[in-house]
Amino acid sequence: MTSPTHSIRTLIQHWGSRTLLSLALGAGFVQAAQAQTAPLQACPSPQILSRFEEFGRTGKMPPDLGRWLNDRQAQYIEPYQAFDNVYYVGVCWVSAWLVKTSEGYILIDTLHEPFVDQLIENMAKVGVKPSDLRYVLMTHGHFDHVGGAYKLKPLTQARFVMTQTGWDEAIADSRASQKTPRPWQMLQAPDLVLKDGDTVTLGDTRIKVYETPGHTHGTASYSLDVKDGSQTYHAFVIGGLGLNAIDSAKQVESYIASVNRIDGLVHDKTAPITVHLTTHPFSTGLTEAKEKLKTRRPGDPHPLVDASGFAQQLTTLRQGAEQRLDIERKKEAR
Ligand SMILES: [Zn+2]
Repeated sequence: MTSPTHSIRTLIQHWGSRTLLSLALGAGFVQAAQAQTAPLQACPSPQILSRFEEFGRTGKMPPDLGRWLNDRQAQYIEPYQAFDNVYYVGVCWVSAWLVKTSEGYILIDTLHEPFVDQLIENMAKVGVKPSDLRYVLMTHGHFDHVGGAYKLKPLTQARFVMTQTGWDEAIADSRASQKTPRPWQMLQAPDLVLKDGDTVTLGDTRIKVYETPGHTHGTASYSLDVKDGSQTYHAFVIGGLGLNAIDSAKQVESYIASVNRIDGLVHDKTAPITVHLTTHPFSTGLTEAKEKLKTRRPGDPHPLVDASGFAQQLTTLRQGAEQRLDIERKKEAR
């Protein structure tokens, strides 16, 4: 086990010292949460977002956030069926989505240590073995999304998928982490490389790949259809939300272009995206929304189908990125 101090330091390295996560994650409930100062327990989205906001503002990891991020008990989320063909198998702060198809399963993102065994147990609870996976789609090269690939790979015949730049970033980040107190392992060579416009087809399911640079240069987003009884909805996984790994104004410009592109899909006249399968549950209040699934009665709307909430989040993401663009341009003008 690593000490909490090591974990905190590592997270600061991972998140960057000047993250503007609260602006970047685009959630609308930061202000309401700011009065909340009780230590973090369990999985309350507003308080978590508030702690990340504090981290972004001060550049210092709030001690309770650092502890909480590595606390297996606090991070535990009972896996649940979000849609007929989609299960949530992640932990509190970072997502993993499992997609059921007529010919096996697709996993989206892999969590990180010490949560990979939890991911495997979560899949088992919904009746899925790693050997049932056919594809593992990864959003981007940061440890919290690809850190589980190394442990999963020998347990499955699945193809592990990312963009070329995503693979490059993941392999470079993993190598750089070897000199830190909390090294993590990555597959040493790209398995399957996909690019913008490609589709992953498995049985009755098609997942479309979007290259959405911004959070990292190699970030991929994914769209798929999700089913709820007789209804089918278009869903989207935004591959990266935060502005915590920004190296230039140009990168922020790419981020804004990606947000605008996704906004176009949400506002599409014929087949709009109405579901955001988020990569970080606190960014959309997913943990609270999923509670509504438990008490939902026949005929009630699905709590995760929320086109206006998605559009609002994109607006907030864009505003945060525009502010960040100003900061980056001023830095470069110096
Ligand atoms: Zn990331």
